[in-house]
This record gives sequence, structure tokens and C-alpha cells, in this order.
Amino acid sequence: MDLGLRGKTALVCGASKGLGYACAEALAREGVNLVVVARGEDALAAAAGRLRASGATVVPVAADIATPVGRERALAAAPQAGASSAAQFDIVVTNAGGPPAGNFREFTAADWLDAINTNMLSAIELIRLTVDGMIERRWGRIVNITSTAVKAPSAYLPLSNGARCGLSGFVAGVAREVAPYGVTINNLLPGVFDTDRLAGNFAAVAGRDGVSAAEIRERRRTQTAPQRFGHPDELGAWCAFICSAQASYLNAQNILLDGGTYPGTF
Ligand code: NAP
Repeated sequence: MDLGLRGKTALVCGASKGLGYACAEALAREGVNLVVVARGEDALAAAAGRLRASGATVVPVAADIATPVGRERALAAAPQAGASSAAQFDIVVTNAGGPPAGNFREFTAADWLDAINTNMLSAIELIRLTVDGMIERRWGRIVNITSTAVKAPSAYLPLSNGARCGLSGFVAGVAREVAPYGVTINNLLPGVFDTDRLAGNFAAVAGRDGVSAAEIRERRRTQTAPQRFGHPDELGAWCAFICSAQASYLNAQNILLDGGTYPGTF
């Protein structure tokens, strides 16, 4: 199926590995030109090299998307950068590292502000700085990579539960406002996907419970409905579809990708 994305330009954040990289790869396969962002320069350069194999133009920007300076640098790197370069992106995929796991009693106000800044405000700022250009051009797609925590909170990810619900609440309002102009904003809620982030979470829980990370991994696997973790490519494919011409009537949704693990009917 041709997703109608050839020649579009996307900003993909947190794109040197994991879910962000998978989104970038799926978009590149559809002929989308990319600006990809992550903090670590070497891993990002390597990722950009792999993405170029599809023939797409890929501009890597080593920057912290949770900072105003980092966002400014990312937005200024739009391939057809002009006077208002931020207005040039057709697609924006917001994503950054998740907050640390732990009991809520361990987290201070500073920890909360950090999580809110990284996992809520950075996405809101990227939307603010790009959505009006999309509205002017009457076409745009914004996809926020958030978490299953929005629907099924985890006791050990309180920072994620809070910050991500704040982002979903913001999107619920603004997505309706931009809908008449061919712009959609949706949230992708990953369940358990096999990435470095997952391994980090297992290590943290293993340290807390005094068991091996391998044991935690196996325990977690058997708690999923399909008895396996998601592959990042499975989320990348959804991201590309949400950005597609065919998905123009999909807006303001929180799309849970967890293999059916969430136990509710709706
Ligand atoms: P990952 O494998 O650790 O990859 C994170 C990517 O984001 C890396 O490229 C990382 O590169 C980049 N990044 C992190 N912080 C950044 C920042 N401030 N500015 C720019 N780039 C940044 O993580 P993942 O599993 O793909 O997870 C992506 C998001 O989905 C996270 O927020 C995570 O909490 C959430 N999530 C994941 C799962 C899962 O099962 N994997 C489940 C629910 C939610 P640098 O470190 O070099 O910047």
C-alpha cells in the first residue's frame, strides 16, 4: 500500500535507536525525508547512515530535545530551511527517553519537573512550534510516542504515569482545534517493546527485588497477552500508517500497542 508520503519531510525525535529509530526507518521506507534527533552524536550518525540506505535525505541533529536550545537546533535543520524553518515539517514524531522507575516516595519535586519537562512539555513545545505551519499548508501529522502508562499505570513508573497523562490531556484539546485544517495529532502508547529502555527498566526492578534481570524479563514476558515483547518495527509501521494519506480521519487518539495485554473491553 502506498501511504502517500513520498517527498514529505519529518522531524523524528529520539531516533538513534529503539522506537524512535523504528519510526524513522518506516517513514524513510515511504520516501519521507528526515531530520533525526538524539543526544549521542556517534549513535545518531550511525543511525542516519542506515536510514540513508532507503534513499531518503537524512539530516542528523545531535541535540537534547528536552531543552529550548536543542529544539531550536532540530527545527532549524529542516531540509528546505528558510526564514521560518519550523514551518517546513509535514510530520513531527515526538519522543524522548522515559523517566526513571521507582517508588513515588523516592522522587522529589525536581524529579517531577524533569519528567514533566522531558515527557510532556518538550512534545507540547514541538507541537506549538510546528503546528501553525502545518495548518497554513493544510496538511500535517504529529505522532507522540508516549506509554501504555496512560491507560494502565505502573506502580513503579509514577513519573511516567503523571507526565504522559498530562500530554494526552493537552493533545485531546488541541487535536480538535487543528482538525479542520488537515492536521492530525495522535499518541502511540507502547506496551512492552524490546529496546534498550526495556533492558534498563528490568535492571532497575531486578536491583530492587534482588533477582536477576533475566528473571524479571521472563516474568514480564509471560505477563503479556501474546507471551512476547513487541518488536520496534511493529510500532514503526503504525507510526507510518498514522502519518499516511489513508489515516487522515484518525485524530486525537491514544493508540495502545500492547498485543492485547490491557485487560479492558475498551
Ligand atoms: P531507547 O531504546 O532508550 O531509545 C531512546 C532514544 O531516544 C535514543 O535514541 C536516545 O538517544 C533518544 N533520547 C533520549 N532522550 C533524549 C532527549 N532528551 N533528546 C533527544 N533524544 C533523546 O527507548 P525506547 O524504548 O525506544 O523508548 C522511547 C520512549 O517510549 C521512551 O519515552 C520510553 O519511556 C517510552 N516507552 C517505551 C516502552 C518500551 O517498552 N520500550 C514502553 C512504554 C513507553 P540518546 O540517549 O543518545 O539521546
